[in-house]
Amino acid sequence: MYDSIVIGAGIAGSVTARQLAEKGNRRVLVIERRDHIGGNCYDSPDAYGILVHVYGPHIFHTSMEEVFDYLSRFTEWTLYEQGHQVVANIGGRLIPVPFNLNTLHMIYDKEQADELEKKLVEAYGLGNRVPIMKLRENKDPQIQDIAQYVYENVFLKYTMKQWGQTPEEISPQVTGRVPVLISYDNRYFQDKYQGVPADSFTQMFARMLDHENVTVRTGADARELLQLGAHEIRFEGKKFEGDVVYTGELDELFGCRYGRLPYRSLRFDFEHLAQDDFQDGHSVVNYTVSEDFTRITEFKYLTRQKDADGTTIVREYPFAYTGADGEIPYYAIMNPENEALYEKYKRLAMGLSNMHLLGRLAEYKYYNIDAMVKKALVLADELIG
Ligand code: FAD
Ligand code: UDP
Repeated sequence: MYDSIVIGAGIAGSVTARQLAEKGNRRVLVIERRDHIGGNCYDSPDAYGILVHVYGPHIFHTSMEEVFDYLSRFTEWTLYEQGHQVVANIGGRLIPVPFNLNTLHMIYDKEQADELEKKLVEAYGLGNRVPIMKLRENKDPQIQDIAQYVYENVFLKYTMKQWGQTPEEISPQVTGRVPVLISYDNRYFQDKYQGVPADSFTQMFARMLDHENVTVRTGADARELLQLGAHEIRFEGKKFEGDVVYTGELDELFGCRYGRLPYRSLRFDFEHLAQDDFQDGHSVVNYTVSEDFTRITEFKYLTRQKDADGTTIVREYPFAYTGADGEIPYYAIMNPENEALYEKYKRLAMGLSNMHLLGRLAEYKYYNIDAMVKKALVLADELIG
Protein backbone atom coordinates (compact mmCIF):
# COMPACT_ATOMS: atom_id res chain seq x y z
CA MET A 1 0.00 0.00 0.00
CA TYR A 2 2.80 2.43 0.93
CA ASP A 3 6.35 2.64 -0.39
CA SER A 4 7.69 4.85 2.41
CA ILE A 5 6.65 5.88 5.90
CA VAL A 6 7.49 9.24 7.45
CA ILE A 7 7.01 9.66 11.18
CA GLY A 8 6.27 13.23 12.24
CA ALA A 9 4.65 16.01 10.23
CA GLY A 10 7.01 18.78 11.32
CA ILE A 11 9.22 20.54 8.80
CA ALA A 12 11.66 17.61 8.57
CA GLY A 13 8.94 15.04 7.93
CA SER A 14 6.78 17.20 5.69
CA VAL A 15 9.55 18.21 3.29
CA THR A 16 10.80 14.62 3.09
CA ALA A 17 7.30 13.28 2.44
CA ARG A 18 6.63 15.79 -0.31
CA GLN A 19 9.93 15.04 -2.04
CA LEU A 20 9.55 11.26 -1.86
CA ALA A 21 6.00 11.56 -3.20
CA GLU A 22 6.65 14.09 -5.94
CA LYS A 23 10.19 13.51 -7.07
CA GLY A 24 10.40 9.83 -6.15
CA ASN A 25 6.83 9.02 -7.17
CA ARG A 26 6.44 6.99 -3.99
CA ARG A 27 3.25 6.41 -2.03
CA VAL A 28 4.06 7.94 1.33
CA LEU A 29 2.30 7.54 4.66
CA VAL A 30 2.90 10.33 7.18
CA ILE A 31 2.15 9.40 10.78
CA GLU A 32 1.77 12.27 13.26
CA ARG A 33 0.79 11.77 16.86
CA ARG A 34 -0.48 15.29 17.46
CA ASP A 35 -3.89 16.16 16.10
CA HIS A 36 -2.37 18.60 13.62
CA ILE A 37 0.45 18.93 11.11
CA GLY A 38 3.37 21.39 11.28
CA GLY A 39 5.23 20.09 14.34
CA ASN A 40 6.54 22.95 16.45
CA CYS A 41 5.94 25.44 13.62
CA TYR A 42 2.18 24.96 13.98
CA ASP A 43 0.15 28.17 14.27
CA SER A 44 -3.55 28.74 14.70
CA PRO A 45 -5.94 31.61 15.51
CA ASP A 46 -6.73 31.92 19.23
CA ALA A 47 -10.23 32.52 20.64
CA TYR A 48 -9.86 36.21 19.72
CA GLY A 49 -8.91 35.61 16.10
CA ILE A 50 -5.23 36.42 16.62
CA LEU A 51 -2.85 34.05 14.86
CA VAL A 52 -0.55 32.57 17.52
CA HIS A 53 2.41 30.21 17.33
CA VAL A 54 1.26 27.46 19.66
CA TYR A 55 4.76 26.06 20.36
CA GLY A 56 6.61 29.35 20.66
CA PRO A 57 7.46 32.16 18.25
CA HIS A 58 8.86 31.00 14.90
CA ILE A 59 10.53 33.32 12.43
CA PHE A 60 11.71 31.81 9.19
CA HIS A 61 15.16 33.07 8.27
CA THR A 62 17.66 31.87 5.72
CA SER A 63 20.40 32.84 3.33
CA MET A 64 20.00 29.63 1.35
CA GLU A 65 18.29 30.56 -1.92
CA GLU A 66 17.44 26.94 -2.56
CA VAL A 67 15.56 26.66 0.73
CA PHE A 68 13.74 29.96 0.25
CA ASP A 69 12.72 28.99 -3.29
CA TYR A 70 11.58 25.57 -2.17
CA LEU A 71 9.27 26.83 0.59
CA SER A 72 8.07 29.62 -1.70
CA ARG A 73 6.36 26.92 -3.77
CA PHE A 74 3.96 26.48 -0.87
CA THR A 75 3.57 29.97 0.52
CA GLU A 76 3.88 33.67 -0.06
CA TRP A 77 5.73 35.59 2.60
CA THR A 78 5.42 38.47 4.97
CA LEU A 79 9.07 39.48 4.86
CA TYR A 80 10.48 41.82 7.48
CA GLU A 81 12.09 44.72 5.66
CA GLN A 82 14.18 45.71 8.67
CA GLY A 83 14.78 42.09 9.68
CA HIS A 84 13.59 40.53 12.93
CA GLN A 85 14.57 42.79 15.81
CA VAL A 86 14.70 41.91 19.50
CA VAL A 87 15.29 44.07 22.54
CA ALA A 88 16.33 43.10 26.05
CA ASN A 89 14.50 44.59 29.00
CA ILE A 90 17.18 45.53 31.52
CA GLY A 91 15.53 47.12 34.52
CA GLY A 92 12.89 48.74 32.29
CA ARG A 93 15.39 49.98 29.72
CA LEU A 94 15.18 48.39 26.27
CA ILE A 95 18.44 47.70 24.44
CA PRO A 96 19.00 45.94 21.08
CA VAL A 97 20.05 42.26 21.15
CA PRO A 98 22.41 40.95 19.86
CA PHE A 99 24.61 43.51 21.56
CA ASN A 100 26.07 45.70 18.78
CA LEU A 101 27.62 49.10 18.27
CA ASN A 102 24.23 50.80 18.67
CA THR A 103 23.89 49.10 22.05
CA LEU A 104 27.44 50.17 22.95
CA HIS A 105 26.53 53.82 22.30
CA MET A 106 23.43 53.49 24.50
CA ILE A 107 25.42 52.14 27.44
CA TYR A 108 28.51 54.36 27.43
CA ASP A 109 28.83 58.11 26.97
CA LYS A 110 29.91 59.32 23.53
CA GLU A 111 33.62 59.71 24.22
CA GLN A 112 33.97 56.31 25.88
CA ALA A 113 31.78 54.60 23.30
CA ASP A 114 33.84 56.03 20.42
CA GLU A 115 37.03 54.79 22.03
CA LEU A 116 35.60 51.35 22.74
CA GLU A 117 34.19 51.07 19.25
CA LYS A 118 37.65 51.76 17.81
CA LYS A 119 39.14 49.05 19.99
CA LEU A 120 36.51 46.50 19.06
CA VAL A 121 36.88 47.26 15.36
CA GLU A 122 40.66 46.99 15.61
CA ALA A 123 40.47 43.71 17.51
CA TYR A 124 37.76 41.96 15.49
CA GLY A 125 37.14 43.91 12.29
CA LEU A 126 34.03 45.87 11.32
CA GLY A 127 31.08 43.67 10.38
CA ASN A 128 32.29 40.61 12.28
CA ARG A 129 30.53 38.49 14.91
CA VAL A 130 32.17 37.58 18.20
CA PRO A 131 30.70 34.96 20.53
CA ILE A 132 30.42 36.32 24.07
CA MET A 133 32.60 33.52 25.46
CA LYS A 134 35.36 34.56 23.02
CA LEU A 135 35.00 38.25 23.84
CA ARG A 136 35.48 37.40 27.50
CA GLU A 137 38.90 35.94 26.70
CA ASN A 138 40.20 39.29 25.44
CA LYS A 139 42.95 40.61 27.73
CA ASP A 140 42.32 44.33 27.13
CA PRO A 141 40.72 45.68 30.35
CA GLN A 142 38.33 47.96 28.46
CA ILE A 143 37.13 45.16 26.19
CA GLN A 144 36.84 42.96 29.28
CA ASP A 145 34.63 45.62 30.76
CA ILE A 146 32.21 45.46 27.80
CA ALA A 147 32.33 41.66 27.81
CA GLN A 148 31.46 41.63 31.50
CA TYR A 149 28.55 43.99 30.94
CA VAL A 150 27.16 41.86 28.12
CA TYR A 151 27.76 38.64 30.03
CA GLU A 152 25.96 39.86 33.14
CA ASN A 153 23.16 41.80 31.51
CA VAL A 154 22.37 39.73 28.43
CA PHE A 155 23.55 36.15 28.95
CA LEU A 156 23.95 35.01 32.53
CA LYS A 157 20.42 35.11 33.94
CA TYR A 158 18.65 34.38 30.65
CA THR A 159 20.82 31.29 30.17
CA MET A 160 20.26 30.19 33.77
CA LYS A 161 16.51 30.39 33.16
CA GLN A 162 16.62 28.71 29.77
CA TRP A 163 19.07 25.90 30.58
CA GLY A 164 19.33 25.78 34.37
CA GLN A 165 23.09 26.19 33.79
CA THR A 166 25.57 29.03 33.37
CA PRO A 167 26.92 30.04 29.92
CA GLU A 168 30.20 28.28 30.84
CA GLU A 169 28.38 25.02 31.49
CA ILE A 170 26.43 24.82 28.23
CA SER A 171 27.72 24.19 24.72
CA PRO A 172 29.43 27.33 23.33
CA GLN A 173 27.46 26.68 20.12
CA VAL A 174 24.30 27.75 21.97
CA THR A 175 25.40 31.17 23.22
CA GLY A 176 27.28 31.54 19.93
CA ARG A 177 23.88 31.78 18.20
CA VAL A 178 23.56 35.31 19.58
CA PRO A 179 27.05 36.83 19.18
CA VAL A 180 28.23 40.38 19.82
CA LEU A 181 28.08 42.21 16.49
CA ILE A 182 30.85 44.61 15.52
CA SER A 183 28.42 46.62 13.42
CA TYR A 184 25.37 48.86 13.64
CA ASP A 185 23.09 45.97 12.75
CA ASN A 186 20.09 45.65 15.11
CA ARG A 187 18.75 42.53 13.42
CA TYR A 188 18.56 39.34 15.48
CA PHE A 189 19.54 37.26 12.45
CA GLN A 190 21.83 38.30 9.62
CA ASP A 191 20.09 36.19 6.96
CA LYS A 192 18.90 37.61 3.65
CA TYR A 193 15.32 36.39 4.01
CA GLN A 194 13.44 36.88 7.28
CA GLY A 195 9.74 36.66 7.91
CA VAL A 196 6.72 34.40 8.25
CA PRO A 197 4.41 32.72 5.73
CA ALA A 198 1.85 35.31 4.59
CA ASP A 199 -1.22 33.33 5.69
CA SER A 200 0.29 30.94 8.25
CA PHE A 201 2.89 28.22 8.78
CA THR A 202 0.07 25.69 9.03
CA GLN A 203 -1.25 26.58 5.56
CA MET A 204 2.26 26.24 4.16
CA PHE A 205 2.47 22.72 5.62
CA ALA A 206 -1.03 21.85 4.38
CA ARG A 207 -0.06 22.77 0.81
CA MET A 208 3.20 20.86 1.09
CA LEU A 209 1.43 17.71 2.22
CA ASP A 210 -1.36 18.10 -0.32
CA HIS A 211 -0.12 15.63 -2.93
CA GLU A 212 -1.87 12.64 -4.43
CA ASN A 213 0.88 10.29 -3.24
CA VAL A 214 0.80 11.50 0.37
CA THR A 215 -1.53 10.18 3.06
CA VAL A 216 -1.42 11.91 6.43
CA ARG A 217 -2.65 10.22 9.59
CA THR A 218 -2.77 12.61 12.55
CA GLY A 219 -3.54 11.51 16.10
CA ALA A 220 -1.60 8.30 15.42
CA ASP A 221 1.49 7.25 17.35
CA ALA A 222 4.03 5.38 15.23
CA ARG A 223 5.08 3.37 18.26
CA GLU A 224 1.67 1.72 18.14
CA LEU A 225 1.62 1.19 14.38
CA LEU A 226 5.15 -0.06 13.83
CA GLN A 227 6.93 -2.89 15.58
CA LEU A 228 10.70 -2.80 15.69
CA GLY A 229 12.75 -5.96 15.78
CA ALA A 230 16.55 -5.91 16.02
CA HIS A 231 16.84 -5.95 12.20
CA GLU A 232 13.38 -5.45 10.79
CA ILE A 233 10.44 -3.07 10.95
CA ARG A 234 6.91 -4.44 10.88
CA PHE A 235 3.90 -2.40 9.83
CA GLU A 236 0.33 -3.68 10.11
CA GLY A 237 1.63 -7.15 10.93
CA LYS A 238 3.94 -7.44 7.91
CA LYS A 239 7.62 -6.79 7.38
CA PHE A 240 8.00 -3.29 5.91
CA GLU A 241 10.92 -3.00 3.52
CA GLY A 242 10.45 0.55 2.28
CA ASP A 243 12.23 3.56 3.76
CA VAL A 244 11.07 4.71 7.19
CA VAL A 245 12.03 8.28 8.10
CA TYR A 246 11.74 8.94 11.81
CA THR A 247 11.68 12.52 13.17
CA GLY A 248 10.66 11.89 16.80
CA GLU A 249 12.70 11.29 19.96
CA LEU A 250 15.16 8.49 19.42
CA ASP A 251 15.10 7.16 23.01
CA GLU A 252 11.31 6.72 22.85
CA LEU A 253 11.60 4.58 19.76
CA PHE A 254 13.51 2.05 21.82
CA GLY A 255 11.42 2.28 24.98
CA CYS A 256 14.01 4.54 26.68
CA ARG A 257 15.89 1.35 27.58
CA TYR A 258 19.16 3.13 28.39
CA GLY A 259 17.38 5.98 30.21
CA ARG A 260 15.84 9.17 28.87
CA LEU A 261 17.73 11.65 26.75
CA PRO A 262 17.74 14.98 28.62
CA TYR A 263 15.86 17.94 27.14
CA ARG A 264 14.69 21.37 28.19
CA SER A 265 11.01 22.03 27.90
CA LEU A 266 8.92 25.19 27.99
CA ARG A 267 5.59 26.23 29.39
CA PHE A 268 3.85 28.83 27.24
CA ASP A 269 1.51 31.19 29.10
CA PHE A 270 -0.74 32.94 26.61
CA GLU A 271 -2.65 36.06 27.59
CA HIS A 272 -5.11 38.13 25.61
CA LEU A 273 -5.31 41.80 26.50
CA ALA A 274 -8.13 44.16 25.60
CA GLN A 275 -5.70 46.87 24.57
CA ASP A 276 -4.14 47.80 21.31
CA ASP A 277 -0.52 47.39 22.25
CA PHE A 278 1.54 45.77 24.99
CA GLN A 279 5.20 46.09 23.96
CA ASP A 280 5.21 49.37 22.11
CA GLY A 281 5.53 47.68 18.73
CA HIS A 282 8.22 45.15 19.72
CA SER A 283 7.42 41.60 18.66
CA VAL A 284 9.89 40.00 21.10
CA VAL A 285 11.28 41.37 24.36
CA ASN A 286 13.89 39.26 26.18
CA TYR A 287 13.98 39.50 29.98
CA THR A 288 17.68 39.08 30.52
CA VAL A 289 18.08 40.14 34.16
CA SER A 290 14.69 39.77 35.82
CA GLU A 291 11.50 37.61 35.87
CA ASP A 292 11.10 33.82 35.75
CA PHE A 293 10.16 33.80 32.07
CA THR A 294 12.74 34.33 29.34
CA ARG A 295 10.80 36.41 26.84
CA ILE A 296 7.45 37.84 25.84
CA THR A 297 6.23 37.67 22.25
CA GLU A 298 3.42 39.92 21.02
CA PHE A 299 2.05 38.03 18.06
CA LYS A 300 0.50 40.72 15.95
CA TYR A 301 3.89 42.36 15.54
CA LEU A 302 5.48 39.02 14.62
CA THR A 303 2.87 38.07 12.03
CA ARG A 304 1.98 41.69 11.08
CA GLN A 305 -1.70 40.83 11.46
CA LYS A 306 -3.67 43.99 10.64
CA ASP A 307 -7.19 43.14 11.78
CA ALA A 308 -6.31 42.08 15.35
CA ASP A 309 -8.80 43.12 17.99
CA GLY A 310 -6.81 43.62 21.21
CA THR A 311 -3.49 41.83 21.46
CA THR A 312 -2.21 38.38 22.47
CA ILE A 313 1.13 37.77 24.16
CA VAL A 314 2.98 34.68 25.34
CA ARG A 315 5.50 34.28 28.15
CA GLU A 316 7.97 31.38 28.02
CA TYR A 317 8.89 29.52 31.21
CA PRO A 318 11.65 26.92 30.75
CA PHE A 319 11.90 23.74 32.83
CA ALA A 320 13.63 20.34 32.76
CA TYR A 321 11.75 17.80 30.62
CA THR A 322 10.85 14.66 32.57
CA GLY A 323 8.93 12.71 29.94
CA ALA A 324 5.64 13.07 31.85
CA ASP A 325 2.46 13.04 29.76
CA GLY A 326 1.85 16.31 27.97
CA GLU A 327 5.42 17.57 28.30
CA ILE A 328 7.22 18.42 25.06
CA PRO A 329 10.99 18.05 24.60
CA TYR A 330 11.98 21.31 22.88
CA TYR A 331 15.74 21.61 23.23
CA ALA A 332 18.36 18.86 23.22
CA ILE A 333 20.96 19.54 25.90
CA MET A 334 24.12 19.06 23.90
CA ASN A 335 27.08 17.88 25.96
CA PRO A 336 29.46 14.90 25.71
CA GLU A 337 27.57 12.78 28.23
CA ASN A 338 24.19 13.24 26.55
CA GLU A 339 25.68 12.79 23.12
CA ALA A 340 27.22 9.47 24.25
CA LEU A 341 23.79 8.31 25.40
CA TYR A 342 22.34 9.41 22.07
CA GLU A 343 24.99 7.36 20.24
CA LYS A 344 23.88 4.23 22.11
CA TYR A 345 20.37 4.66 20.76
CA LYS A 346 21.72 5.48 17.33
CA ARG A 347 23.55 2.17 17.25
CA LEU A 348 20.22 0.42 17.81
CA ALA A 349 18.69 2.37 14.94
CA MET A 350 21.60 1.44 12.69
CA GLY A 351 20.58 -2.21 13.01
CA LEU A 352 17.50 -1.29 10.98
CA SER A 353 18.84 -0.70 7.48
CA ASN A 354 15.68 1.02 6.18
CA MET A 355 15.33 3.41 9.18
CA HIS A 356 16.55 6.99 8.65
CA LEU A 357 16.81 9.55 11.44
CA LEU A 358 16.07 13.18 10.64
CA GLY A 359 15.21 16.28 12.63
CA ARG A 360 15.77 18.11 15.85
CA LEU A 361 14.59 15.26 18.01
CA ALA A 362 15.79 12.22 16.07
CA GLU A 363 19.27 13.73 15.58
CA TYR A 364 19.40 15.37 19.04
CA LYS A 365 20.56 18.67 17.53
CA TYR A 366 19.68 22.37 17.55
CA TYR A 367 18.41 23.02 14.02
CA ASN A 368 16.65 26.07 12.64
CA ILE A 369 13.84 25.61 10.11
CA ASP A 370 16.02 26.36 7.11
CA ALA A 371 18.73 23.87 8.07
CA MET A 372 16.03 21.26 8.53
CA VAL A 373 14.58 21.92 5.08
CA LYS A 374 18.01 21.59 3.55
CA LYS A 375 18.73 18.31 5.36
CA ALA A 376 15.34 16.93 4.35
CA LEU A 377 15.95 17.79 0.69
CA VAL A 378 19.34 16.06 0.80
CA LEU A 379 17.99 12.95 2.55
CA ALA A 380 15.09 12.64 0.12
CA ASP A 381 17.49 12.86 -2.83
CA GLU A 382 19.71 10.17 -1.30
CA LEU A 383 16.73 7.88 -0.75
CA ILE A 384 15.40 8.43 -4.25
CA GLY A 385 18.90 7.73 -5.56
P1 FAD B 1 9.22 18.96 15.14
O1 FAD B 1 8.67 20.23 14.65
O2 FAD B 1 9.33 18.73 16.60
O3 FAD B 1 8.37 17.77 14.50
C1 FAD B 1 8.47 16.44 14.92
C2 FAD B 1 7.08 15.83 14.88
O4 FAD B 1 7.15 14.43 15.09
C3 FAD B 1 6.16 16.39 15.95
O5 FAD B 1 5.00 16.93 15.35
C4 FAD B 1 5.84 15.18 16.81
O6 FAD B 1 4.53 15.19 17.33
C5 FAD B 1 6.02 14.03 15.82
N1 FAD B 1 6.30 12.76 16.47
C6 FAD B 1 7.26 12.49 17.38
N2 FAD B 1 7.21 11.20 17.75
C7 FAD B 1 6.19 10.63 17.06
C8 FAD B 1 5.63 9.32 17.03
N3 FAD B 1 6.10 8.34 17.79
N4 FAD B 1 4.59 9.09 16.20
C9 FAD B 1 4.08 10.08 15.43
N5 FAD B 1 4.58 11.34 15.43
C10 FAD B 1 5.61 11.62 16.25
N6 FAD B 1 13.58 27.76 14.08
C11 FAD B 1 13.68 28.81 13.26
O7 FAD B 1 14.20 28.66 12.14
N7 FAD B 1 13.23 30.06 13.62
C12 FAD B 1 12.66 30.28 14.83
O8 FAD B 1 12.27 31.41 15.15
C13 FAD B 1 12.53 29.19 15.74
N8 FAD B 1 11.97 29.37 16.95
C14 FAD B 1 11.86 28.31 17.78
C15 FAD B 1 11.26 28.53 19.02
C16 FAD B 1 11.11 27.48 19.90
C17 FAD B 1 10.46 27.72 21.25
C18 FAD B 1 11.59 26.19 19.54
C19 FAD B 1 11.46 25.03 20.49
C20 FAD B 1 12.18 25.97 18.30
C21 FAD B 1 12.31 27.02 17.42
N9 FAD B 1 12.88 26.84 16.15
C22 FAD B 1 13.00 27.91 15.31
C23 FAD B 1 13.32 25.52 15.67
C24 FAD B 1 12.23 24.79 14.90
O9 FAD B 1 11.12 24.60 15.73
C25 FAD B 1 12.79 23.45 14.44
O10 FAD B 1 13.87 23.64 13.59
C26 FAD B 1 11.78 22.62 13.69
O11 FAD B 1 10.53 22.61 14.30
C27 FAD B 1 12.32 21.22 13.62
O12 FAD B 1 11.43 20.44 12.91
P2 FAD B 1 11.34 18.89 13.12
O13 FAD B 1 10.45 18.39 12.05
O14 FAD B 1 12.69 18.30 13.27
O15 FAD B 1 10.68 18.69 14.57
N1 UDP C 1 20.72 34.09 25.05
C1 UDP C 1 20.83 34.88 26.17
N2 UDP C 1 20.20 36.09 26.18
C2 UDP C 1 19.47 36.54 25.15
C3 UDP C 1 19.36 35.73 24.01
C4 UDP C 1 19.99 34.51 24.00
O1 UDP C 1 21.47 34.50 27.14
O2 UDP C 1 18.91 37.65 25.23
C5 UDP C 1 21.43 32.78 25.04
C6 UDP C 1 20.61 31.69 25.73
O3 UDP C 1 21.51 30.79 26.34
C7 UDP C 1 19.89 31.07 24.57
C8 UDP C 1 20.96 31.11 23.48
O4 UDP C 1 21.65 32.35 23.71
O5 UDP C 1 19.47 29.76 24.85
C9 UDP C 1 20.47 31.02 22.07
O6 UDP C 1 19.47 31.99 21.87
P1 UDP C 1 18.40 31.87 20.71
O7 UDP C 1 17.59 33.12 20.70
O8 UDP C 1 19.07 31.46 19.48
O9 UDP C 1 17.50 30.68 21.24
P2 UDP C 1 16.13 30.09 20.64
O10 UDP C 1 15.63 30.99 19.59
O11 UDP C 1 16.51 28.77 20.11
O12 UDP C 1 15.22 30.02 21.83
